[in-house]
Amino acid sequence: MASGNPFFDDIRSKPEVIDPPPNEDMMDVGEHVNDPAQNALKPNVTVSSSVRELLECPVCLNAMYPPIHQCSNGHTLCSGCKPRVHNRCPTCRHELGNIRCLALEKVAASLELPCKYQSFGCIGIYPYYSKLKHESQCIYRPYNCPYAGSECTVIGDIPYLVAHLKDDHKVDMHNGSTFNHRYVKSNPQEVENATWMLTVFSCFGQYFCLHFEAFQLGMAPVYIAFLRFMGDDNEAKNYSYSLEVGGNGRKTIWQGVPRSIRDSHRKVRDSFDGLIIQRNMALFFSGGDRKELKLRVTGRIWKEQ
Ligand SMILES: [Zn+2]
Ligand SMILES: [Zn+2]
Ligand SMILES: [Zn+2]
Ligand SMILES: [Zn+2]
Repeated sequence: MASGNPFFDDIRSKPEVIDPPPNEDMMDVGEHVNDPAQNALKPNVTVSSSVRELLECPVCLNAMYPPIHQCSNGHTLCSGCKPRVHNRCPTCRHELGNIRCLALEKVAASLELPCKYQSFGCIGIYPYYSKLKHESQCIYRPYNCPYAGSECTVIGDIPYLVAHLKDDHKVDMHNGSTFNHRYVKSNPQEVENATWMLTVFSCFGQYFCLHFEAFQLGMAPVYIAFLRFMGDDNEAKNYSYSLEVGGNGRKTIWQGVPRSIRDSHRKVRDSFDGLIIQRNMALFFSGGDRKELKLRVTGRIWKEQ
Protein backbone atom coordinates (compact mmCIF):
# COMPACT_ATOMS: atom_id res chain seq x y z
CA MET A 1 0.00 0.00 0.00
CA ALA A 2 2.75 2.40 0.99
CA SER A 3 4.99 1.87 -1.96
CA GLY A 4 2.17 1.94 -4.50
CA ASN A 5 1.10 5.44 -3.64
CA PRO A 6 2.94 8.08 -5.69
CA PHE A 7 1.87 10.92 -3.38
CA PHE A 8 3.13 9.14 -0.36
CA ASP A 9 6.45 8.38 -1.97
CA ASP A 10 6.75 11.96 -2.97
CA ILE A 11 6.11 13.32 0.50
CA ARG A 12 8.61 10.94 1.95
CA SER A 13 11.35 11.67 -0.53
CA LYS A 14 10.88 15.45 -0.58
CA PRO A 15 9.85 16.49 2.90
CA GLU A 16 11.04 20.05 2.32
CA VAL A 17 8.18 20.83 -0.07
CA ILE A 18 5.36 19.84 2.31
CA ASP A 19 5.27 23.28 3.89
CA PRO A 20 5.05 26.18 1.49
CA PRO A 21 7.66 28.93 1.89
CA PRO A 22 6.62 31.42 4.59
CA ASN A 23 6.11 34.30 2.17
CA GLU A 24 4.04 32.38 -0.28
CA ASP A 25 0.69 34.10 -0.53
CA MET A 26 -2.66 32.89 -1.79
CA MET A 27 -1.94 33.79 -5.40
CA ASP A 28 1.08 31.54 -5.44
CA VAL A 29 -0.97 28.73 -4.07
CA GLY A 30 -3.49 29.24 -6.84
CA GLU A 31 -0.79 29.07 -9.46
CA HIS A 32 0.54 25.81 -8.12
CA VAL A 33 -2.85 24.27 -8.14
CA ASN A 34 -3.65 25.30 -11.67
CA ASP A 35 -0.29 24.95 -13.35
CA PRO A 36 0.04 21.43 -14.77
CA ALA A 37 3.82 21.66 -14.95
CA GLN A 38 4.03 22.60 -11.30
CA ASN A 39 1.54 19.89 -10.51
CA ALA A 40 3.72 17.27 -12.09
CA LEU A 41 6.61 18.27 -9.90
CA LYS A 42 4.70 19.06 -6.77
CA PRO A 43 1.55 17.15 -6.02
CA ASN A 44 -1.33 19.09 -4.56
CA VAL A 45 -0.50 17.95 -1.07
CA THR A 46 2.55 20.18 -1.12
CA VAL A 47 0.46 23.35 -1.22
CA SER A 48 -2.22 22.06 1.03
CA SER A 49 -1.40 23.65 4.36
CA SER A 50 -2.13 27.27 3.38
CA VAL A 51 -5.11 26.25 1.27
CA ARG A 52 -6.28 24.19 4.17
CA GLU A 53 -6.19 27.31 6.32
CA LEU A 54 -8.30 29.07 3.69
CA LEU A 55 -10.78 26.23 3.90
CA GLU A 56 -11.09 26.48 7.65
CA CYS A 57 -14.30 28.16 8.77
CA PRO A 58 -13.33 31.21 10.91
CA VAL A 59 -16.21 30.50 13.30
CA CYS A 60 -16.25 26.75 14.00
CA LEU A 61 -12.72 26.06 12.68
CA ASN A 62 -13.97 23.00 10.81
CA ALA A 63 -13.08 22.32 7.19
CA MET A 64 -15.64 23.91 4.88
CA TYR A 65 -17.61 22.00 2.27
CA PRO A 66 -19.96 23.35 -0.41
CA PRO A 67 -21.83 25.56 -0.29
CA ILE A 68 -19.10 27.85 1.05
CA HIS A 69 -20.43 31.34 1.70
CA GLN A 70 -18.71 34.71 1.60
CA CYS A 71 -19.56 38.30 2.47
CA SER A 72 -19.27 41.17 -0.04
CA ASN A 73 -15.72 41.76 1.27
CA GLY A 74 -14.77 38.18 0.52
CA HIS A 75 -14.66 36.69 4.03
CA THR A 76 -15.73 33.08 3.98
CA LEU A 77 -17.98 31.06 6.23
CA CYS A 78 -19.23 27.47 6.35
CA SER A 79 -22.84 26.57 5.60
CA GLY A 80 -23.30 25.23 9.12
CA CYS A 81 -22.35 28.54 10.72
CA LYS A 82 -24.14 30.80 8.25
CA PRO A 83 -27.62 30.50 9.81
CA ARG A 84 -26.14 31.17 13.23
CA VAL A 85 -24.50 34.54 12.57
CA HIS A 86 -27.73 36.50 11.94
CA ASN A 87 -26.71 37.60 8.46
CA ARG A 88 -23.62 39.45 9.72
CA CYS A 89 -20.15 38.53 8.54
CA PRO A 90 -18.35 37.36 11.69
CA THR A 91 -15.09 38.84 10.39
CA CYS A 92 -16.10 42.37 9.25
CA ARG A 93 -19.67 42.63 10.58
CA HIS A 94 -21.02 43.59 7.14
CA GLU A 95 -24.26 42.15 5.95
CA LEU A 96 -23.65 38.62 4.74
CA GLY A 97 -26.24 38.20 2.01
CA ASN A 98 -26.26 35.05 -0.05
CA ILE A 99 -23.00 34.95 -1.97
CA ARG A 100 -21.44 31.60 -2.67
CA CYS A 101 -17.66 31.27 -2.98
CA LEU A 102 -17.41 29.03 -6.04
CA ALA A 103 -13.71 29.73 -6.55
CA LEU A 104 -12.80 28.34 -3.16
CA GLU A 105 -15.10 25.36 -3.68
CA LYS A 106 -13.26 24.60 -6.93
CA VAL A 107 -9.86 24.98 -5.30
CA ALA A 108 -11.01 22.54 -2.64
CA ALA A 109 -12.09 20.08 -5.33
CA SER A 110 -8.56 20.09 -6.76
CA LEU A 111 -6.96 19.29 -3.40
CA GLU A 112 -5.76 15.94 -2.24
CA LEU A 113 -5.02 15.62 1.43
CA PRO A 114 -3.70 12.95 3.75
CA CYS A 115 -6.21 11.18 5.97
CA LYS A 116 -6.44 12.87 9.34
CA TYR A 117 -5.46 9.58 11.01
CA GLN A 118 -2.01 9.72 9.44
CA SER A 119 -0.43 9.74 12.88
CA PHE A 120 -2.27 6.50 13.65
CA GLY A 121 -0.75 4.80 10.60
CA CYS A 122 -3.03 5.62 7.64
CA ILE A 123 -1.03 6.56 4.56
CA GLY A 124 -4.02 7.33 2.32
CA ILE A 125 -4.26 10.56 0.33
CA TYR A 126 -7.78 11.57 -0.65
CA PRO A 127 -9.53 14.19 -2.74
CA TYR A 128 -10.87 16.88 -0.44
CA TYR A 129 -14.51 15.99 -0.97
CA SER A 130 -14.13 12.27 -0.38
CA LYS A 131 -11.74 12.58 2.55
CA LEU A 132 -14.54 12.84 5.12
CA LYS A 133 -16.17 9.65 3.90
CA HIS A 134 -12.88 7.78 4.07
CA GLU A 135 -12.14 9.09 7.55
CA SER A 136 -15.50 7.93 8.85
CA GLN A 137 -14.50 4.38 7.87
CA CYS A 138 -10.71 4.54 8.07
CA ILE A 139 -9.44 1.39 9.75
CA TYR A 140 -6.80 3.46 11.53
CA ARG A 141 -9.30 5.76 13.19
CA PRO A 142 -8.85 5.51 16.94
CA TYR A 143 -11.25 3.64 19.18
CA ASN A 144 -13.11 5.17 22.08
CA CYS A 145 -12.23 3.91 25.54
CA PRO A 146 -14.51 0.87 26.09
CA TYR A 147 -14.90 1.54 29.78
CA ALA A 148 -18.59 1.96 30.50
CA GLY A 149 -20.26 3.88 33.25
CA SER A 150 -18.11 6.97 33.03
CA GLU A 151 -17.67 9.77 30.56
CA CYS A 152 -14.15 8.76 29.61
CA THR A 153 -13.06 10.61 26.48
CA VAL A 154 -9.77 8.82 25.93
CA ILE A 155 -9.23 7.52 22.38
CA GLY A 156 -6.44 5.49 20.87
CA ASP A 157 -5.38 2.27 19.24
CA ILE A 158 -5.90 -1.07 20.97
CA PRO A 159 -2.52 -1.41 22.74
CA TYR A 160 -2.89 2.12 24.04
CA LEU A 161 -6.42 1.49 25.32
CA VAL A 162 -5.44 -1.80 26.97
CA ALA A 163 -2.74 0.04 28.93
CA HIS A 164 -5.19 2.82 29.70
CA LEU A 165 -7.82 0.37 31.05
CA LYS A 166 -5.22 -1.27 33.23
CA ASP A 167 -3.53 1.86 34.53
CA ASP A 168 -6.30 4.43 34.71
CA HIS A 169 -9.45 2.38 35.26
CA LYS A 170 -7.75 -0.40 37.27
CA VAL A 171 -9.58 -2.99 35.20
CA ASP A 172 -8.93 -6.69 35.92
CA MET A 173 -6.88 -8.34 33.20
CA HIS A 174 -6.96 -12.08 32.52
CA ASN A 175 -5.06 -14.29 30.15
CA GLY A 176 -6.79 -17.21 28.52
CA SER A 177 -9.95 -18.06 26.64
CA THR A 178 -11.99 -19.53 29.48
CA PHE A 179 -13.15 -17.76 32.56
CA ASN A 180 -15.02 -18.26 35.76
CA HIS A 181 -16.12 -15.05 37.27
CA ARG A 182 -18.00 -14.22 40.41
CA TYR A 183 -20.11 -11.14 40.67
CA VAL A 184 -21.02 -10.35 44.23
CA LYS A 185 -23.10 -7.40 45.20
CA SER A 186 -24.73 -6.69 48.47
CA ASN A 187 -28.09 -4.97 48.55
CA PRO A 188 -29.16 -6.00 45.03
CA GLN A 189 -32.47 -4.18 45.47
CA GLU A 190 -30.73 -1.00 44.42
CA VAL A 191 -30.48 -1.33 40.69
CA GLU A 192 -28.87 1.67 39.17
CA ASN A 193 -28.40 1.90 35.44
CA ALA A 194 -24.75 2.60 36.04
CA THR A 195 -23.98 -0.56 37.99
CA TRP A 196 -21.46 -2.29 35.84
CA MET A 197 -18.24 -4.22 35.85
CA LEU A 198 -15.61 -4.76 33.22
CA THR A 199 -12.96 -7.44 32.86
CA VAL A 200 -10.49 -7.67 29.99
CA PHE A 201 -9.46 -11.04 28.56
CA SER A 202 -6.46 -11.64 26.41
CA CYS A 203 -6.44 -14.66 24.11
CA PHE A 204 -5.67 -15.48 20.45
CA GLY A 205 -3.47 -12.39 20.48
CA GLN A 206 -6.58 -10.23 20.89
CA TYR A 207 -8.38 -8.44 23.71
CA PHE A 208 -11.99 -8.89 24.76
CA CYS A 209 -14.08 -6.90 27.22
CA LEU A 210 -16.54 -8.78 29.40
CA HIS A 211 -19.25 -6.44 30.61
CA PHE A 212 -21.61 -7.19 33.42
CA GLU A 213 -24.21 -4.76 34.56
CA ALA A 214 -27.61 -4.16 36.00
CA PHE A 215 -30.18 -2.06 34.26
CA GLN A 216 -33.86 -1.40 34.18
CA LEU A 217 -35.74 -3.12 31.36
CA GLY A 218 -39.08 -1.36 31.44
CA MET A 219 -40.11 -1.86 35.07
CA ALA A 220 -38.02 -4.96 35.55
CA PRO A 221 -34.49 -4.91 36.88
CA VAL A 222 -32.27 -7.23 34.87
CA TYR A 223 -28.63 -8.15 34.61
CA ILE A 224 -26.78 -8.48 31.35
CA ALA A 225 -23.38 -9.91 30.51
CA PHE A 226 -21.81 -9.59 27.07
CA LEU A 227 -18.48 -9.62 25.35
CA ARG A 228 -16.97 -6.92 23.17
CA PHE A 229 -14.03 -7.36 20.84
CA MET A 230 -11.26 -4.78 20.97
CA GLY A 231 -10.94 -4.32 17.22
CA ASP A 232 -13.06 -3.90 14.14
CA ASP A 233 -16.32 -5.59 13.35
CA ASN A 234 -15.00 -7.75 10.49
CA GLU A 235 -12.48 -9.29 12.88
CA ALA A 236 -14.94 -9.64 15.74
CA LYS A 237 -16.97 -11.97 13.53
CA ASN A 238 -14.14 -14.50 13.60
CA TYR A 239 -14.88 -15.25 17.25
CA SER A 240 -17.69 -16.71 19.29
CA TYR A 241 -18.26 -16.90 22.99
CA SER A 242 -20.50 -18.59 25.47
CA LEU A 243 -21.63 -17.53 28.92
CA GLU A 244 -23.25 -19.68 31.51
CA VAL A 245 -24.84 -18.78 34.80
CA GLY A 246 -26.78 -20.95 37.18
CA GLY A 247 -27.42 -22.38 40.59
CA ASN A 248 -29.85 -24.63 42.40
CA GLY A 249 -29.75 -27.10 39.54
CA ARG A 250 -30.80 -24.62 36.85
CA LYS A 251 -28.71 -22.74 34.38
CA THR A 252 -28.96 -20.28 31.53
CA ILE A 253 -26.56 -20.44 28.61
CA TRP A 254 -25.87 -17.76 26.07
CA GLN A 255 -23.84 -18.12 22.91
CA GLY A 256 -22.99 -15.10 20.88
CA VAL A 257 -20.56 -13.25 18.67
CA PRO A 258 -18.54 -10.53 20.37
CA ARG A 259 -19.42 -7.03 19.25
CA SER A 260 -16.75 -4.61 18.15
CA ILE A 261 -15.99 -1.81 20.58
CA ARG A 262 -16.85 0.45 17.62
CA ASP A 263 -20.38 -0.26 18.83
CA SER A 264 -20.90 1.65 22.03
CA HIS A 265 -21.45 -0.19 25.24
CA ARG A 266 -24.95 1.25 25.47
CA LYS A 267 -25.83 0.20 21.93
CA VAL A 268 -24.90 -3.41 22.66
CA ARG A 269 -26.78 -3.38 25.93
CA ASP A 270 -29.89 -1.83 24.43
CA SER A 271 -29.96 -4.44 21.69
CA PHE A 272 -29.92 -7.16 24.43
CA ASP A 273 -27.09 -8.88 22.59
CA GLY A 274 -25.91 -10.86 25.59
CA LEU A 275 -26.82 -13.09 28.49
CA ILE A 276 -29.83 -11.53 30.18
CA ILE A 277 -30.83 -12.61 33.67
CA GLN A 278 -34.01 -11.40 35.30
CA ARG A 279 -33.28 -10.25 38.82
CA ASN A 280 -35.60 -12.81 40.37
CA MET A 281 -33.72 -15.54 38.57
CA ALA A 282 -30.40 -13.96 39.50
CA LEU A 283 -31.34 -13.95 43.16
CA PHE A 284 -32.52 -17.55 42.86
CA PHE A 285 -29.16 -18.48 41.31
CA SER A 286 -27.44 -16.64 44.14
CA GLY A 287 -29.03 -18.90 46.75
CA GLY A 288 -29.21 -17.71 50.33
CA ASP A 289 -31.74 -15.22 51.57
CA ARG A 290 -31.90 -12.91 48.52
CA LYS A 291 -29.94 -10.26 50.39
CA GLU A 292 -26.90 -10.66 48.26
CA LEU A 293 -26.28 -11.13 44.56
CA LYS A 294 -23.74 -13.89 44.07
CA LEU A 295 -23.52 -14.92 40.45
CA ARG A 296 -20.97 -17.26 39.03
CA VAL A 297 -20.58 -16.63 35.32
CA THR A 298 -18.43 -19.04 33.38
CA GLY A 299 -17.52 -18.49 29.80
CA ARG A 300 -15.38 -19.40 26.86
CA ILE A 301 -14.12 -17.59 23.80
CA TRP A 302 -13.16 -19.48 20.66
CA LYS A 303 -12.06 -18.74 17.17
CA GLU A 304 -14.36 -19.83 14.35
CA GLN A 305 -12.69 -21.81 11.57
ZN1 LIG B 1 -18.38 27.04 10.53
ZN1 LIG C 1 -16.78 40.12 5.90
ZN1 LIG D 1 -7.35 6.86 6.81
ZN1 LIG E 1 -11.04 5.35 29.73
